[in-house]
Amino acid sequence: MPGRLQYKAALVTGAASGIGLESAILFALEGANVLLVDINEKAVEDAAVKLAKTTPNVKVLATKADVSKEADIKAAVDKAVAEFGRLDVMFNNAGIMHPADDNALNTEERIWDMTMQVNLKGVWWGCKYAILAMRSNPVDEAKVLHTGGSIINTASFVAIMGAATPQLAYTASKGAVLAMTRELAMVHAREGIRLNSICPGPLKTPLLMDFLNTPEKRDRRLVHLPMGRFGEAVELAKGALFLASDESSYVTGTDFKVDGGLSSCYVTPI
Ligand code: NAD
Repeated sequence: MPGRLQYKAALVTGAASGIGLESAILFALEGANVLLVDINEKAVEDAAVKLAKTTPNVKVLATKADVSKEADIKAAVDKAVAEFGRLDVMFNNAGIMHPADDNALNTEERIWDMTMQVNLKGVWWGCKYAILAMRSNPVDEAKVLHTGGSIINTASFVAIMGAATPQLAYTASKGAVLAMTRELAMVHAREGIRLNSICPGPLKTPLLMDFLNTPEKRDRRLVHLPMGRFGEAVELAKGALFLASDESSYVTGTDFKVDGGLSSCYVTPI
């Protein structure tokens, strides 16, 4: 059985942990060559070495990059193209949630700027260099590959819902990711480059669990979750795999929610 991403080349940011790591694993298992990118050099290299052992039929590589730096993102995309000869899937997934991010009165400007730099500008630059690379993808008739590609940007459920546990900069950055992704999807639709946002609900990954470090904080959220549990990173990775593959060939500009029903909920089941 050919994999769902056979012959494709993918780059995943934030690939040392959580959603990014699980997605890189699935992408490689489904036949893609994958470049894992993260600011945490040791963790991302260890992850790539481990993954490469279980997926000998594809190339799995790692590189350190800070997505808040344009030059780092350009270098990472250049590396993917140099190693794989093309770029079909760009997953702009790295993001931060700063513990000092708060409401309009308490959030310091430096926290706001830092959050926007990683969560929004990093995604913009990821889109920019992916689009340039995808425009140059060679058409390989034998393998029936298309030009174009799929760009997936990680937003959040808080981009579409308000929370009375505020993280203003984070929420604003993720709302901007949705708006930016939609617009880019329209601009590049006729080039065959699809852009979609993925909106995770609250997940059991370090990003959220480090923050929800008491039973009280977790229970404050759990009561609002229709399925009564936090999501798993791999459940997001399966959504990303769909958006990355040609199975979603007519899906672009969407806010793809993988949130356990949270954003459709008024009253949760007892
Ligand atoms: P995680 O903390 O498990 O992983 C995030 C990874 O991003 C880490 O490996 C980290 O080193 C990397 N990273 C951080 N800053 C970076 C930078 N400047 N450059 C490169 N890499 C960087 O988190 P996760 O839960 O897998 O989060 C992934 C994405 O999902 C984020 O964009 C996050 O905002 C979003 N999200 C998470 C949740 C949740 O509940 N966990 C909910 C909604 C959205």
